[in-house]
Amino acid sequence: MFRESVLAGALVSEEVVATSAPAKTFDAYGRHIHYLRVSLTDRCNLRCVYCMPEQMVFRPSEELLTNEELVRVLRVMSRLGFDKYRLTGGEPTVRPGLVDIVREIAALPNTRDIAMTTNGVKLARLAAPLKAAGLKRVNISIDSLDPVKFRRITRWGDVRDVLDGIAAAEAVGLTPIKLNAVVIRGFNEEDVVSLAALTLDKPWQFRFIEVMPFADVAEFQMASIVTTQEMMARIQAALGTLSVENEGKLDGEARVYRLPGAKGTVGFISPVTAPFCASCNRVRLTADGTLRLCLLKDGEVDLKTPLRRGATEDDLEELIRRAIWHKPWGHDLADGVIPMNRVMSEIGG
Ligand code: SAM
Ligand code: SF4
Repeated sequence: MFRESVLAGALVSEEVVATSAPAKTFDAYGRHIHYLRVSLTDRCNLRCVYCMPEQMVFRPSEELLTNEELVRVLRVMSRLGFDKYRLTGGEPTVRPGLVDIVREIAALPNTRDIAMTTNGVKLARLAAPLKAAGLKRVNISIDSLDPVKFRRITRWGDVRDVLDGIAAAEAVGLTPIKLNAVVIRGFNEEDVVSLAALTLDKPWQFRFIEVMPFADVAEFQMASIVTTQEMMARIQAALGTLSVENEGKLDGEARVYRLPGAKGTVGFISPVTAPFCASCNRVRLTADGTLRLCLLKDGEVDLKTPLRRGATEDDLEELIRRAIWHKPWGHDLADGVIPMNRVMSEIGG
């Protein structure tokens, strides 16, 4: 309607814009929820030790939302005022029809930002078509620059594929480039220095993530955690003082710093030692069609069943609005409450 009005002429479009401001959706704590993280698949072409077992069993594809069902849900999210999307997984680049999905999201009325979190393995080939379809930027996971350590962490990966993916993303303008590393004791805690040093010459943001516990892998994850405090100490001992950027305000979920003379920045995501629930503005859609209200809490609302039973977009809108109202305040990791019904690759991070 908005687009047609704009096409119809300036005067008409002004009038319509004034009366059709996007809806806003709030939870019971007054947080404005407008950011959807969409897990496109639970499958992956890697098997990171902190994320999934090597013999991971994936859901049958008929349990996942089809592209058409996914787009219907996204249309409803757009009606609810969602304007920011992040595609994730599993590994989003193994989802058939990814480029078309990006194009559909870009065409939704309120879309302001579409990003993707990827392991980067397939990005060298996909960066250009994704950019053309409307993807704005990527976060690429790279836990070590050392090929042997990278293989040990990801079990199957070749770090050169990821480096090629980063280069391709930068070349086509999927920027600003953000890189992620989960830091795991005994695997890559020393690598925080070489990874942070990438920001000296490149205008990238390198974000270090504290590992979070999920279901079957929780014991390994909790035994392997390296705290933000330790990561910062290692980086500063080798590369100099990290100065606070952004007046200490969070950039998304990361607290951001800069090394002396660096072109880029270093971020820390600390869900375990410094939760950021108060500023949470997001919910998640899992690949099998549930709305997950908090990454670290099991509460979910099934959208697929009503969708397959013929729910209208109005029905779905009401269901989602009510679910968001009940979004929990935050997680209870500090009290030892660990999410048990899914692992990270099934939720999307
Ligand atoms: N496959 C893509 C990737 O690896 O970037 C996207 C999905 S992955 C689940 C999203 C992010 O979550 C990645 O940066 C990954 O390293 C991180 N991650 C996976 N398991 C985690 C865990 N248990 N705790 C913290 N971060 C985790
Ligand atoms: Fe795959 Fe990403 Fe999980 Fe690694 S972190 S196994 S790349 S989904």
